[in-house]
Amino acid sequence: MLHALQEAFTGENMLTTWLVLFLASGLVAGLVTGFFKARKIQPKGFKWKIFGQEALVALVTLAISGTVLGFGQTWLRQNGWIAFQQGPAAWWEIALEYGAYFLGFDTYFYWLHRWMHKEPVYSWVHKLHHHSTAPNLLTTLSVNPLESLINGGFLPLFLALYSVHPESLALMGPTTIIMGFYVHSGYEFFPRWWNKSWATKWFITATFHDQHHKYFNYNFGGYTTIWDRICGTMRKKFESDFENPRGRKPARQGDAPAGDPQPA
Ligand SMILES: [Zn+2]
Ligand SMILES: [Zn+2]
Repeated sequence: MLHALQEAFTGENMLTTWLVLFLASGLVAGLVTGFFKARKIQPKGFKWKIFGQEALVALVTLAISGTVLGFGQTWLRQNGWIAFQQGPAAWWEIALEYGAYFLGFDTYFYWLHRWMHKEPVYSWVHKLHHHSTAPNLLTTLSVNPLESLINGGFLPLFLALYSVHPESLALMGPTTIIMGFYVHSGYEFFPRWWNKSWATKWFITATFHDQHHKYFNYNFGGYTTIWDRICGTMRKKFESDFENPRGRKPARQGDAPAGDPQPA
């Protein structure tokens, strides 16, 4: 026991240990001071039963799509469909490649997401992800394997069409993961001015996607609000809910109820 403790605080492990301690103390402080509670988007939304079902779906989906996408990507690389730029990358090249990925994925996701809300695709593919009307971290992974192949298929497709630097790719993977978990976290950490500032209002937040799960026929965007703003699919009360006690008001009349799709 003592030996393990000594090892945790020396050499290579030290940084990790301090980082874990820092995050853990932040989490405890956040819980004690009510920081998280104040930022919960749907305070009574969490249901253990749904959480359990989501855990099961997540495991199956991870196993299936992880295997298929892993093999697919390896095959594409070995057969020369995916190749990377050699040599050092300038900062603007990385910015350009990353920007193309970011906006490319956002467009791909928005239109396929809208398509997945139409029957019969909705029942076959997307309904499973909408099981939870108040998302939590596990909801991110609780998708039909077909849906995770559709969404996960973007990156190999993009890399086959556009050969980027390995440095850019190193940013793309984490973006998918962090954004996925953040928008389903059930907590809003961004400041109230977020949707008022011209520089930031284009980027979605947890409240934005949370309302997609709660009200269903709005807010389809994956990374940005751009397509929703252009196509008029952004929820009208989204911005006022975001500013006002975090959109935690119960659904009111005039909002489409969560559940099956409304006739368009
Ligand atoms: Zn949806
Ligand atoms: Zn979702």
